[in-house]
Amino acid sequence: MPVEKELLEILACPVDKAPVREEGDRLVCSKCGRRYPVRDGIPVMLVDEADPPA
Ligand SMILES: [Zn+2]
Repeated sequence: MPVEKELLEILACPVDKAPVREEGDRLVCSKCGRRYPVRDGIPVMLVDEADPPA
């Protein structure tokens, strides 16, 4: 289930407030590279849930 575009535009990384982009079933921070999961179309913008940058 894709994230709605309007929602994607207002989301930001909680660490550095940078915008995120959709990458597969993840949202990736454009600054620090943390990868946030999306569950049932709902982005989980929590540092504890994020995967560290590759
Ligand atoms: Zn970030």
